[in-house]
Amino acid sequence: MFFVFDGVDGAGKSTQLNLFADWLRECGRDVVCYTDPGTTELGGQMRSLLLGDHQVPIHMRSEMLMFMTARCQLVEELIKPALANGKTVVCDRYVFSTVVYQGHAGDLDPDDVWKVNQIATAGLMPDLTFIFDLDIATAGERMGTLRDRMESRGEAYFQRVRAGFLREAERWQSGVAVIDASGDIEGIQAAIRRAAVSIFPKPTD
Ligand code: ADP
Ligand code: MG
Repeated sequence: MFFVFDGVDGAGKSTQLNLFADWLRECGRDVVCYTDPGTTELGGQMRSLLLGDHQVPIHMRSEMLMFMTARCQLVEELIKPALANGKTVVCDRYVFSTVVYQGHAGDLDPDDVWKVNQIATAGLMPDLTFIFDLDIATAGERMGTLRDRMESRGEAYFQRVRAGFLREAERWQSGVAVIDASGDIEGIQAAIRRAAVSIFPKPTD
């Protein structure tokens, strides 16, 4: 099984991903957690350029392709082998992020970004993607003042990010669960587990 946690910055994705992975392990699953971009050597180097504090000019299309490069490496080096070995993969961000951040909120055509995603992942889609939805003010409060290169893009950009995720969730429907991330940590985790069980009635199988 392949699960993805995606959505706006500061919504609580990483917090919930860790709790979800713990639960899957308690259910007897062999779980590996990855971060996109990241986890591989190449992905880590891409991540430093994409999110780091530097003055290197990066065009939006270059940015999209760098995310895709990291993703391709993650799929080939880690995700595919893990799935082939019967592991459950839980990934922090994946294909939706690029469609939204560089497509809907950036100036690229979301459909073009989907095409490149298809090439980067060789068509490997998650069984279920949780899309975290949260108002931008609350997300901003949770993020605090330390921001990375993406997180520093300002409120108008993040409004487009939020709307983009919701539009893509509507477009896909199957394989996507929108999670209201405004509640407390326990309540959100319960909603995530319910969504997982509704698709996989027996997570221990
Ligand atoms: P993301 O990975 O989506 O950017 P994080 O999981 O890193 O979000 O959470 C951002 C911050 O918000 C962290 O300090 C975390 O402890 C806090 N947080 C996470 N979930 C909640 C919640 N439901 N209510 C309040 N604060 C939260
Ligand atoms: Mg995170």
